[in-house]
Amino acid sequence: MKEILSMDQVSFSYHVEGEEARKAVDHVSFTVNEGEWIAIVGHNGSGKSTLAKLMIGLLFPSEGNVNLFLEPLTEENLWEIRSRMGIVFQNPDNQFVGSTVQDDVAFALENNGVLFEEMVTRVHESLQKVNMADFLDHEPHHLSGGQKQRVAIAGALALRPELLILDEATSMLDPQGRDEVIRVVSELKQETGLTVISITHDLEEVLLADRIIVMNRGKMLKVGTPAEIFADGEELERIGLDLPFALKVSGLLREAGLPLDGEHMTEEELVNELWTSHFSK
Ligand code: ADP
Ligand code: MG
Repeated sequence: MKEILSMDQVSFSYHVEGEEARKAVDHVSFTVNEGEWIAIVGHNGSGKSTLAKLMIGLLFPSEGNVNLFLEPLTEENLWEIRSRMGIVFQNPDNQFVGSTVQDDVAFALENNGVLFEEMVTRVHESLQKVNMADFLDHEPHHLSGGQKQRVAIAGALALRPELLILDEATSMLDPQGRDEVIRVVSELKQETGLTVISITHDLEEVLLADRIIVMNRGKMLKVGTPAEIFADGEELERIGLDLPFALKVSGLLREAGLPLDGEHMTEEELVNELWTSHFSK
């Protein structure tokens, strides 16, 4: 397995005048391998965005190391390393620079000196990947939230990144927009093996990830597969996280005396068990 990113005992404090230093990230260590989809969850203020900024070199750790593509991230290699990753932020309206969808996607390519023909190919290719190929000449601000974020993802993809980082890219979207973006990311992962790190509150998205990192007050509380992470639902609720709907319902049914085997992460799993072991007799 090829390592894409690792955090090695990383800490970061904000220094606000007249206040004690605020430790936003506290001795966090984890590794992300090529082709993985990692979801980072945690309550507001738990350090997720700070972690994302450390990953892209907008901030540098006060302790520990951030390694990308097996190299420690430094001020010297920052631009070279950043050219190998794509980043999409929360607010779809703050990320447009072009007056049409295709200009917007082409913008970063132009800045990187990509030749015109190559640029046209890449713009089409990346808009196709996010199912927005029919919108080349549309004005970005007339698109729906989900469409805007998909164009933002296309802009990132056009640079052919090895790592895509999403910081709450779906949190300002309506349910349909959210579904569109999540579908596109899972297709990308399946078709291209792109490595994705996604900070999110969306439980549907979290359940699709290969591994989940749970942040709590700047510390990494745990890391594991969705099944491992949601095995202790009460602990997650204690730190202010929501649980998948099916998991909540199966907990309530169990409390009410219905014997259920195992955990149910999706409604389908729950319905299947209810159907086969309780209603079909
Ligand atoms: P999250 O993304 O999980 O909501 P953040 O990384 O934004 O968390 O914030 C972690 C902690 O750092 C919080 O206590 C927050 O108030 C503080 N913080 C974040 N950004 C700044 C900043 N620019 N200056 C001072 N404190 C900050
Ligand atoms: Mg944040």
